[in-house]
Order: sequence, then structure tokens, then C-alpha cells
Amino acid sequence: MKKIIIIKYGELSTKKDNINFFISTLKDNIKASLSGLNANITYDKGRMFIESSEDNYESIMSKLKKTFGIHEINIAYELENNDFENIKASLIELIKDVEFTTFKVESKRSDKTYPVNSMEMSRILGGVVLKNKDGVKVDVHNPETVINVEVRFKHAYIYFEKERGLGGYPVGALGKGMLMLSGGIDSPVAGYLALKRGVRIEGVYFESPPHTSEAAKNKVISLAKQLADYSGYVKLHVINFTKIQETILKECPHEYLITIMRRMMYRISERLARRSNCKVLVNGESIGQVASQTLTSMYAINSAIKMPVIRPVACLDKLDIIDIAKKIETYEISIQPFEDCCTIFVPDHPVINPDEALCIEYENLFDYETLIKEAIETEEIVKVENKISEVHNNVL
Ligand code: ATP
Ligand code: MG
Repeated sequence: MKKIIIIKYGELSTKKDNINFFISTLKDNIKASLSGLNANITYDKGRMFIESSEDNYESIMSKLKKTFGIHEINIAYELENNDFENIKASLIELIKDVEFTTFKVESKRSDKTYPVNSMEMSRILGGVVLKNKDGVKVDVHNPETVINVEVRFKHAYIYFEKERGLGGYPVGALGKGMLMLSGGIDSPVAGYLALKRGVRIEGVYFESPPHTSEAAKNKVISLAKQLADYSGYVKLHVINFTKIQETILKECPHEYLITIMRRMMYRISERLARRSNCKVLVNGESIGQVASQTLTSMYAINSAIKMPVIRPVACLDKLDIIDIAKKIETYEISIQPFEDCCTIFVPDHPVINPDEALCIEYENLFDYETLIKEAIETEEIVKVENKISEVHNNVL
């Protein structure tokens, strides 16, 4: 019997029309994340199977646990054939090395013509375990060990433990979004949640040197690296925003600084997004968190562009956002105290209910088109690879 990793798709397998595309995207993502680990991947409609040498299983599992689109992961024993007598004999062999006092057997057969049905199989195999292991009892409600037996067309599989996967959809299966990534707590969480829905992320970061430092930029790169653990890589656009910010500061009424600055960010993000074939912007705005995140503010800012904006954390409390940030290990990076371009020119009384018509009037006080073009032309692109494997040089 050899060990093999079985992956179950869960929610994916209910998306009938797209199933093949989803599964092949998942397979490509897994293949990329396991490159270098000598993994052989095969799949059918319901399962994916991964084989490698046993020393690699721990690394493989840690990568699979950060892959969206996986519902469950099992390390199973693959039996040479699915003959019922062989299943019984193998089970007797395997339970010798597993410690438990209470158990139940859960059986599945994907081959419906198999001579024994699932209920019978569980009953008969339960009897086999009782007879061949001293001191064990069946407990169907709260067993210490669940013995899983799956009969498929060619082989049968036995496994004792199930690991939950992250769920969601395979990254890229739902297209691409441009994430406005600042050094704060919210936007990396927003990026993670978008990735979870299968949206591949490119990032855009606005910096204002010399008002913002190289260290602030490196912090954003570290955050992108955390996200890249879930997506393999992140392409980060770094936009020099200094001239735009300084011009707004010089030309526009100060209570409108933030609103107009954010309209410029949106415009640049939308253009980068179009160029990169992203269908949406993604950001970390959360209703009511700051003056620029009132509904009236969001309306005035959003109206500068046409592209839809996804705000995954819009309705979450800060504490819930922080919980996710801790889970994905961005929190400790985000709380490092570096200045952000949004915080360097904060007016004393930012407008809470900005008026769109006034935004347009104030913006027309300077030639923002030329400044936006210049900012985009001078962008710096950082290819951010994940921490675990630095092998994606060719994918960007
Ligand atoms: P965060 O914690 O994500 O920084 P925040 O609560 O500080 O968010 P704002 O500063 O108002 O809120 O920013 C709202 C959103 O705008 C951010 O979540 C991010 O998506 C985007 N944003 C803000 N500053 C920048 C920046 N310098 N570069 C790119 N995106 C930014
Ligand atoms: Mg911020």
C-alpha cells in the first residue's frame, strides 16, 4: 500500500457549468505551488490525487493548506485494487498502527455497480475491526477515530484523518482584480478575501517620497508577500504620488484634500486595472471607519471612475478584520508604524459629506490628466513571490 494525498473540491463540484475550468485552474495552481517537490498530480470530477516521496508530504500539506478551492485534504493509503477481500485484509493491517478505543467506519463508493453498498460495507468492515483489534468499541456519534473507506473504479482508499482546506475558489478562476494595497490592516485582509473568491490580485501602492520612506514601501512589499503565499505571486505596481499630492495641497481647498486625493488614486488604479485586464478594483474601505469612508464620501470618490469596486471588509467590524489579519499573519506587519501617503497631509477638518460637483470644480483647478499619465509612465513594478517557494520567475 502506498500513501497518497487526496484532495476534495467541496463547493466547486456544485458549479456544474464551470467545473472543468475550475478544476483545471486548481490543478494549475497546485502544480505551480508544488513545483520542485516532485509531485505527480492526477484528477477526476470529484477528487485530485497527489503522489510524491513521503519526505515531501509535510511541505506539500503546508502548501495545500494555503490553496483556495480545496475543501478537504486526506493522507490516504491507496490499495492496489478495489477487491472487497483486499480491503478487509488491508484494513486489518492498517489498524495495527493506529491507537483508538472508539471508532466508526464511513464508506463511500463512486462505482455504483460495486457489489457491496456503502451501508453494508461500513457494517461489515466495522465487524472486521471489532474482531481484529482488542478493546475497541463502535461509537457512531462521537468516535475517537473515523475509519474512512472509499471505493473508486480502480483502487480503494483508506484514511483515518481529515484536514479541512481553506475552501473558496481557485485563485484566478474568477478573473483578476486590482488591489489598492496600503500598509494598513484593512487592505491586505481585503486582498485575502478577494483571493478566496477566486479573484487573482495585482496590487497598486501609492507612495510619496520623500514624505513616505523606503521602509514604508518595504512594509507593503512584505504584505504582498504574505498574500502571495495564497496565490503564488503578486505583481505590485508602485506609483509615485508625490507630485499629485503636492499639487492638490497647493491648488485645492484643504477640507477636500483627502477626497480629491482618493479620486486620483481611483483613477490611476482603474487605468492600471484596464491595462492588466482586471475587471474590478479591490480595496480595504470599511463603512464609517474614517471621514473618507462615509457613504457620501464613498459615493463622491467612487464617481470618479466606472469600474466596479469590491470592498470585502466594508461591513466588518475592525475587530473582525483584525482577527483575519492575525490569521493570515499580516497584522504584525501592518502595525509597524510607518507613514502612509494618506496620513501625511491630513487636513484638520476633512469634509465628511463631500459634494461631487465641488470635487469636479476643484480638480479642474489643475491639469490632473498630465500628472496621472506621468505617474503611470514612471511606475515601478515589483514582482513579489511567495515566501515558501521562490520559483515563479516566469509566471508574471
Ligand atoms: P488600511 O488599513 O487598509 O490602510 P485605512 O483604514 O487606513 O485602510 P484609508 O487610509 O482611508 O483606510 O484607505 C482606505 C483604502 O484605500 C485602503 O484600505 C486601501 O485599499 C486604499 N489605500 C489607502 N492608502 C493607499 C496607498 N497608499 N496605496 C494604495 N492603496 C491605498
Ligand atoms: Mg491606510
